[in-house]
Amino acid sequence: MGGRQCKIRLAVSHDPPGLPAGPPGAIFAGWKHLRPALSLRQSGCVIDRLATATSLLDLPPAEARAALQRWVADRGLPRYRADQLLRRLWMAPVERWADATELPASLRAELEEAHPLLRLQADVIQQSTDGTRKYLWRLADGEAIESVLIPSGTRRTLCISSQAGCALRCAFCATGRMGYRRNLTPYEITGQVREILLRTPDDKPTNIVFMGMGEPLLNWSAVDTSLSILNGAEGFGIGARHITVSTVGILPGMEALSKRPEQFRLAISLHAPTTEQRLGIMPIEKKYDLEAVLRAAQAFRKRVTFEYVMIAGVNDSDTDADRLVKLARRLGALVNILPLHPGGAPDLTPTPAPTIRRFADRVRNQGVEATVRRSRGLDINAACGQLRVEVEKQRHGETLSP
Ligand code: SAH
Repeated sequence: MGGRQCKIRLAVSHDPPGLPAGPPGAIFAGWKHLRPALSLRQSGCVIDRLATATSLLDLPPAEARAALQRWVADRGLPRYRADQLLRRLWMAPVERWADATELPASLRAELEEAHPLLRLQADVIQQSTDGTRKYLWRLADGEAIESVLIPSGTRRTLCISSQAGCALRCAFCATGRMGYRRNLTPYEITGQVREILLRTPDDKPTNIVFMGMGEPLLNWSAVDTSLSILNGAEGFGIGARHITVSTVGILPGMEALSKRPEQFRLAISLHAPTTEQRLGIMPIEKKYDLEAVLRAAQAFRKRVTFEYVMIAGVNDSDTDADRLVKLARRLGALVNILPLHPGGAPDLTPTPAPTIRRFADRVRNQGVEATVRRSRGLDINAACGQLRVEVEKQRHGETLSP
């Protein structure tokens, strides 16, 4: 044989949880959550393959349990250890394994090495006078994402991000203007809850809405896993009816979500009652038009909510209200009317409050349930994407708006 001998070096930052050692192909075959190899470089005949193994916190609880059981078994530890470790991922989370004092010190040290618990760094935490709290999380690669915690009576709704930036460029949205950066991993999505539990366990969210940065249904694989972590009894145990996925209407994602057996809620960012009007503010209308989105929502067979941001002169006339009623009736949808948060869109004008009230009454008088959401956290830039935009401006020497 004249060919040179090939050496393959595989570098992983830590073991894929619980998987047996073996040739690279075998290690990663079927490992659906593995992040793509960071570099696959071929020099002569030597392939360097550097991959970041998936964290336990990136797995659905059932897979994390299985991985931990294998890991524990490989070390000849008693089976109950796997349950103890699993608890520390989401049910009773710790910042680092060293804090899991029910475990022997040697095991804690080994876990720190094999399965470090990833963190999101809190760059900014802002508290609004109305109780709304906004977090800007810094990710390992420097990207920043936002979450907003909104207390209301006994409810604490956490608005979470699913992507850094967003590709959709809706005219009224601050995140849209910064463009798409990247998808978040399951850990980065659910870490927004975990970090709050680590800091202030009493603030555990009762409700989750995917209404932060990004389009969740364009990051379905990670959102799918995140739903299992948020809802699972061995995850955060938040009821499926209290978890809402909000979308502009990404058809393949809507179909995937509808296949899940749990009663997750779906919100459609409608914002306009006709294709023509929607085209003016939401470029995605070109790809998935209103009629197709409505049909997909009908197939969802669970009650949906229409989100409707009120923009003066764009979508707030009586005719718009009547058209919206027709669409909502067809689907049995609830309508959630949102005042336009001015920071998101300097070139658009919010509909005045009395006009919003009249619009909402007109919808209700025709038998459609409609709520007007109070604008929360106005003093802390709590609309989608605004905090990151403000912090980045500040970094570039501009001042934060009041
Ligand atoms: N991409 C998803 C989720 C992120 S946006 C979606 O579009 O549904 C979440 C919600 O915040 C949407 O209903 C969106 O319309 C709303 N939103 C964005 N910018 C806003 C602003 N400036 N004022 C009020 N609501 C806004």
